[in-house]
Amino acid sequence: MDELLRKVRSGAVKLYALEREVPPGEAVAARRAFIEEETGTRLPAVGAFSISPDRVTKRNCENMIGAVQVPVGVAGPLRVRGEHADGSYWLPLATTEGALVASVNRGCSTITRAGGAEVRLIADRMTRAPVFAATSVAHAAECVRWVGSHLDLLAEAAATTTRHGRLVGATTSVAGTSVYVRLEFTTGDAMGMNMVTIASGAVAAVIERETGARLVALSGNLCTDKKPAAVNAVEGRGRSVVAGVFLSDDLVRDVLKADAAALAEVNTRKNLVGSARAGALGFNAHAANVVAALFIACGQDPAHVVEGSLAVTTVDPVPGGVYVSVTLPALPLGTVGGGTAIETQAECLGLLGVAGGGDPPGAHAKAFAEIVGAAVLAGELSLIGALAANHLVRAHATLGRGQ
Ligand code: NAP
Repeated sequence: MDELLRKVRSGAVKLYALEREVPPGEAVAARRAFIEEETGTRLPAVGAFSISPDRVTKRNCENMIGAVQVPVGVAGPLRVRGEHADGSYWLPLATTEGALVASVNRGCSTITRAGGAEVRLIADRMTRAPVFAATSVAHAAECVRWVGSHLDLLAEAAATTTRHGRLVGATTSVAGTSVYVRLEFTTGDAMGMNMVTIASGAVAAVIERETGARLVALSGNLCTDKKPAAVNAVEGRGRSVVAGVFLSDDLVRDVLKADAAALAEVNTRKNLVGSARAGALGFNAHAANVVAALFIACGQDPAHVVEGSLAVTTVDPVPGGVYVSVTLPALPLGTVGGGTAIETQAECLGLLGVAGGGDPPGAHAKAFAEIVGAAVLAGELSLIGALAANHLVRAHATLGRGQ
């Protein structure tokens, strides 16, 4: 180790290249020792971890010095009645927000007592949108026409790069001489961003060759990856999921300590009107909380919580109770690739029965998407229920004082 550190100090070995000199575990320890020395900061807790650096230093994290740990709690059991996930699940939630797991747990128990959440996958398309420079607006319009009539050719090009990714659509947008082609792929069990980006490179080369428009960037931001964007809320991105549950008046009273009218009013004034007034893209109570906790536990890309926050929550008063739903148009998630194979994350996916590739391919990712949908519904119900219960308590207190 001393010799290695000397080489790093002298510049003979680059800090990022330690894995070329020694096995990954030793490289991580040496790098951490160097950083401790450089900064005068001790990092014993960052250096104590259970995941194997062999895999993550190659695939997930450069310049690794250790790991931070996020506590994982369970909420459940949650009864899910989906087309791809049908059963009772314990949700692994990685969070440092006290009360979140307890809150989701209460939502799970409400849903499970109601017989389970109905969940449906309504779309399944990961997107990448290269931007091309045309020479004039007429040329831009020609490009749009060409793309519109050559999807088969583009799909053939995409298929040369991936076994599981399939180009299933291409929508175009023009701004002056800029042409955006929003390519849509099914991605099997992968979230698909790497897969789709590589395939989009092959597709873009064909568009460039056939139309003469110049490829400027493989991502022209109309994808839209990891930025809040209405296009994802409207068109969907990744897996699009809707989850709903009927709650009887008795259940709302017994478990949520509220009533149907209070639930509906909180949802309308807060999630719908309040969000509209704020110019928000998400019309929900805290969908991002549950998406983030599940994504971190299960090895998803946490930056995709941005897309996950674009949820719409509804509460419909119906005879005998309420029908509560949440619609998540954009859940970029997968059960292979990315961080899904890191030991702790793979165990959390395993807890849900969806680790690795499904049979047929895509089955695990679809099931996972439905579970996430039901989990977000649990979170929404619990928070709306708590607000509605407080609202009732306050209303009663006010009434009591007035008497
Ligand atoms: P990936 O690990 O890059 O690709 C998935 C791989 O798994 C593919 O090689 C695929 O092979 C293979 N595979 C095996 N069994 C599969 C199955 N049942 N279903 C689907 N694929 C299967 O993962 P990714 O999901 O495409 O990308 C995720 C990573 O991208 C994350 O680390 C994320 O942080 C990162 N990311 C990248 C970008 C970017 O622009 N590149 C943007 C955002 C995030 P085939 O392709 O041959 O089918």
